[in-house]
Amino acid sequence: MRPVIGIGGTPIGPIKQLANNPVTYTPQGYLDAISASGGIPLVLNPRDPKEINELVMRLDGFMLTGGQDVSPLFYGEEPHQKLGTTNYQRDLYELTLTKAALAANKPILGICRGMQIINVALGGTLYQDLGEKADLAVKHQQFPTDWNQPTHSLQFCDNTPLHQLFGDSTLVNSFHHEAIKDLAAGWQAIATSKDGVIEATYNQSAKLLGVQWHPERLFPTHPEHLGIFKWVVDQAANNQ
Ligand code: MN
Repeated sequence: MRPVIGIGGTPIGPIKQLANNPVTYTPQGYLDAISASGGIPLVLNPRDPKEINELVMRLDGFMLTGGQDVSPLFYGEEPHQKLGTTNYQRDLYELTLTKAALAANKPILGICRGMQIINVALGGTLYQDLGEKADLAVKHQQFPTDWNQPTHSLQFCDNTPLHQLFGDSTLVNSFHHEAIKDLAAGWQAIATSKDGVIEATYNQSAKLLGVQWHPERLFPTHPEHLGIFKWVVDQAANNQ
């Protein structure tokens, strides 16, 4: 059977065009990327952490996606002036899910905010805004350039799954103003931008992979990025 990958849903709203309903969604690219990698994607309801233990038993792997900023309260800081929108409930759900999936040795792929959430769950911290980083020299928020355009380069460490996919370097898109500050002890940085921002993280035995860019918007035109999603689907298949 194809592995089922639970995807942390993004809660927003109420949305005027949808009869003022609050909505939980995930961007289509994440769903298509998991399907194209041989998995079945399933969007999770971020409202009820009580479901998490059962979900971790039933599902084969997990993906945490982009979206709101992470509340700094979860890593012991007060909010800075440039912190964006946060959602305490989503943070709590995804932090709990990360810890439960880790304990069950189920694989987790974290993308953008998802990588940051895993870092916080493991005890690390974030830049609430990259303006805090002294030697920032790369534009990491590429708006208004389209999401399907790569805009900055990365360097990869040897002997990691991403080095196998991309070689020593590649080009990526970039839509983040937060980033990992103190890397948690539970994983290693495996890619950095020219200004030293951590752009990918990995722990082989804990089955964790994180990327700071958005491969779900690059893989249709840059198919090597689909390999990131294949990693979580393959890890999940090995667990079955
Ligand atoms: Mn970047």
